[in-house]
Amino acid sequence: MWSATVFTLYPEMFPGPAGMSLSGDALARGIWSLETQNIREQGLGRHRAVDDTPAGGGPGMVIRADVLAASLDAHLAAEDLRPRLLMSPRGAPLTQARVRSLSTGPGVVVICGRFEGVDERVIAGRQLEEVSIGDYVLSGGEIASLVLLDACVRLLPGVMGKTDSGSEESFENGLLEYPQYTRPREWEGRSIPEILLSGDHAKIAKWRHEQSVRLTRERRPDLLP
Ligand code: SAM
Repeated sequence: MWSATVFTLYPEMFPGPAGMSLSGDALARGIWSLETQNIREQGLGRHRAVDDTPAGGGPGMVIRADVLAASLDAHLAAEDLRPRLLMSPRGAPLTQARVRSLSTGPGVVVICGRFEGVDERVIAGRQLEEVSIGDYVLSGGEIASLVLLDACVRLLPGVMGKTDSGSEESFENGLLEYPQYTRPREWEGRSIPEILLSGDHAKIAKWRHEQSVRLTRERRPDLLP
């Protein structure tokens, strides 16, 4: 079973959206599992402190290396081969290709930062790989980790209805998806393109490919070779 372990200061944020719809169904059916570990359990002193002021000064607080490492060590076996992903705006941008490769592995360990982030030494000391969900700053890694989990779980075998739904989606072939239509045939004076109603599958496939290329050129030329 594909398994996710999330280290967080806010375990109550899980499963949250991951417990609903496709991913929630898949969770209930045992296609994947989700476990949360509260970093604060390894916090220090009466207040279970997890953070401290940044060395060198500056605003905010930093999650301590010793506390985060103790939490990881307490809950991860040495033979656990799942990638350890630290959600971070400094990380490698998450792509559909990476999501697909994660979804074919054993699962993921996800670490959610808070405050100004985590002490750099634990990143190296526990082989954490920084992953970003985009060029903007969230207040914590929890929502980012839910994005990552959602993207991976929907690709697990048996989660999506049709086995190949997903293979034609945006980014899967380096292109954005073509426009989609459904009933009614006419809506507020706008019609479904005739070709989609023609029943000619070869022509439909050609039209869709052309539309994908057009949209990608207009909106995301950076995706084109
Ligand atoms: N001081 C950090 C910086 O400038 O890079 C930002 C820290 S942010 C306020 C707190 C936490 O939110 C981060 O440690 C990370 O876990 C998470 N986070 C924020 N933006 C993210 C993004 N774009 N992708 C992934 N995680 C993000």
